[in-house]
Order: sequence, then structure tokens, then C-alpha cells
Amino acid sequence: MKYNPKINEAIANLPGFHNIHPLTPPQYAQGALEVIYETDRMLADVTGMDNFTFAPFAGAHGELVGLWIIKKYHQLREDYKRTKIIVPDSAHGTNPASAAVAGFDVIEVKSNPDGTVNIDSLKSVLSDEIAGIMLTNPNTLGIFEPDILTMSKLIHDIGGLLYYDGANLNPLLGVAKPGMMGFDIIHLNVHKTFSTPHGGGGPGAGPVGVVSHLKDYLPGPVVIKEDEEYRFLEPKHSIGKVGQFFGNFSVVVKTNAYLKTLGNKIKNLGKLAVLNTNYLKESLKDDYLLAVDKICMHEVVFDGLIDKSSGVKTLDIAKRLLDYGVHPPTIYFPLIVKEAMMIEPVETESKETLDHFIEIMKVIAKEARENPEIVKSAPHRTVVRRLDEVLAVRKPILKYSDLE
Ligand SMILES: *Cc1c(COP(=O)(O)O)cnc(C)c1O
Repeated sequence: MKYNPKINEAIANLPGFHNIHPLTPPQYAQGALEVIYETDRMLADVTGMDNFTFAPFAGAHGELVGLWIIKKYHQLREDYKRTKIIVPDSAHGTNPASAAVAGFDVIEVKSNPDGTVNIDSLKSVLSDEIAGIMLTNPNTLGIFEPDILTMSKLIHDIGGLLYYDGANLNPLLGVAKPGMMGFDIIHLNVHKTFSTPHGGGGPGAGPVGVVSHLKDYLPGPVVIKEDEEYRFLEPKHSIGKVGQFFGNFSVVVKTNAYLKTLGNKIKNLGKLAVLNTNYLKESLKDDYLLAVDKICMHEVVFDGLIDKSSGVKTLDIAKRLLDYGVHPPTIYFPLIVKEAMMIEPVETESKETLDHFIEIMKVIAKEARENPEIVKSAPHRTVVRRLDEVLAVRKPILKYSDLE
């Protein structure tokens, strides 16, 4: 998804980090605890949260942890009727799934055409049974919610909490903080935003941050600093353990290394991510149909080709990109855009790589006009041709040697 500096892998592989046993007593693991503590402080600074747990192994796991915190928060106040979580229809699929797994009823609210939450439809579902809302801002169409402060007030006024899906924090870095928008709980996908390569199943980490009045609910142990010494603390109302030991520690080391490498430059990250995306958007909008024609943030969503007469679909374009050696973007998400192609270049791409991508996308649009069959039957230059996707899921062939 982005530039993942190899030096971070080397740092995570230093023997002191790599070989440390998870049962090492804290007094002999001060360096490792310092890494967790420092990372906690740096993430608190960029998000406006108070404290983090590093226990969750992925973004979706972080969502579950956040929802368990919401649940326990209401239970301790003996407010048992709060059984509902609001999720917009533009949300990432893990949001409603996590809410359901945590035992909540999911209330879907409709989006406006640009994917932002429709305030009237939000107001119509508010009641004292609402435990909270899960939001992504900028939303999955890459559009910033202009009414975020109104929304957070509406939810807090009825006694609910706001959960921020911070899987892709890039656009906010150095520009805004979820804590300033009124969010109470957030998860980050450090494997998307802070330089752990992801895909192929991990390892990742989904640290969860909370505002001060919720920090006693975090899974334990958390690392605190007292008299120049790092110690473990079991938070008073902790939701309990959510995984073995301290999560994917090596991913936390990489996050720490990345944040420190950036240092002060982190203030440019969000702006660069947004600039890169709008450059792609403006360069491709004569060939590809914009789902929303507005200034976007970290990602832009196209609804397939503008000229659909050739019958070339988003899936065909993604397959044809493989022939040109380009990793295709996310397709058919968000669900509210029929032929969705979601492109997120992030801040680390250079103008050269962006121009290369634009050129290939334009070549494919031209092929679709002049020789659509070549796109529809792509890929042509890969080891295997177009897969039967159902069969690939039911009977996966995961090794080259198993190919017939
Ligand atoms: C990737 C993503 C998730 C899920 O994260 P995982 O680490 O894959 O579990 C949740 N929400 C959004 C917006 C995402 O992009």
C-alpha cells in the first residue's frame, strides 16, 4: 500500500527486540516497554487520544475491542438498554460485522450521494437505546464529513459514544485529529498507515486509543512510566485480555521507527496524501467516471469508465493492470458505487510513479474504446489467466508446485 522502509524491518529484527521472551520480567525488558510507551505517546499526539492498547492484531480486532469498551462503559453505568450501534451504509464491511460480533444490533443510516452521513436520517434513528456510532472520516469515498461536529454533538447529547475507524489515518496526519472531532475511541491500522507491509494475511496491528475517561477500560496490561521506570498496569475496569501477551510487538517497533524517522515532517503527510490523490483524480477524470466530483482526501473512487459502450467493467480494468505490472487498486468497494475502483496513492508515491500509473490507466481506457476484447480477456501476461473466483475461494491453490 505504501513505501515500507526496509530499515524498519532491520530494526524490528534487532536481537533485543526479536529474541525477547514475552514472559521476561519488566525490569529486564525496559527497552521493549519503552518502545511501547513511546509509541503510545506518539500516537496519542497525532490522534488527540489519551492512551492506547497495542493488544489487537488487526483493524477489525481493534473494532471489536473498541465496541467491548463501549459495552462495558454503558454496563458499568447500569445503562443496559443501549443495544444499538449506528453504522453508515458507506462503512467498511468490518464495522457492522464487528458490532454484530460484539452483540449489538446494527442500525444502518443512509449516505448522501457523496457518501457523507445524511443528518436527517441520523436524527431519525437517535434514541436512548443507542450505544454509539462508528464512523470513518474522511469516508470511504474519500470525502471529509463537513458536519462532523454536529454529528458528534448529536450522539453525545443522547448519551452515546463515537468510534473512529482510523484504518487509514494518512489524510489527517498533521492536519486534524479525531480527538478534536469529538471521537471517544479509535483504532489505527498501523500496517496501513505506519509502514508494516500488509496483504497475504499479516502480521498487522490495530492499536486502540481512547479519551481519558475511558482509559480504565483498556485491555491489560498497559505500560506506564513511574520514577523513570516502565511498569505494567492492569486498568481498573479493563475489558480483560483480548490476545496473548502484548499483540504483534514487532509491528509496534516498526511503527515507532517510522514515526521517529518522520519526526517533524509528519505534519506534511496528510497534505501530500491529499495532493497525490487529487492529482490522480484530475488526471483520470476525462476517461474514468468520478463517483463524486469534489476535492477528495486520501482516496478517490471512480465508477468504471465514462464510456461504458464497450462493456468493459472495473474487474476487466483491474485484470488488465496486471499485464502492465501494476498492482490493481481495491475494486467493488465501497458498495454504494456500482463499478467502484478505489485508488489511494498515499503520500510516499513520487510524481514519476503517479504519472506511470496515469499513463497505463489511459492506455487501458484507449484499449477499451479500440480493442475491448483484449481488456475483457485480460490478464494475458501472468502465470495464470483469469481465475474462476468461486473455485479460487472453495479450492485455493496456494503453491506454484500445485499448479497442474
Ligand atoms: C482495512 C480496513 C479495516 C480492517 O482492517 P484489518 O486490519 O484488515 O482488519 C477497517 N476499516 C477500514 C476503513 C479499512 O480500510
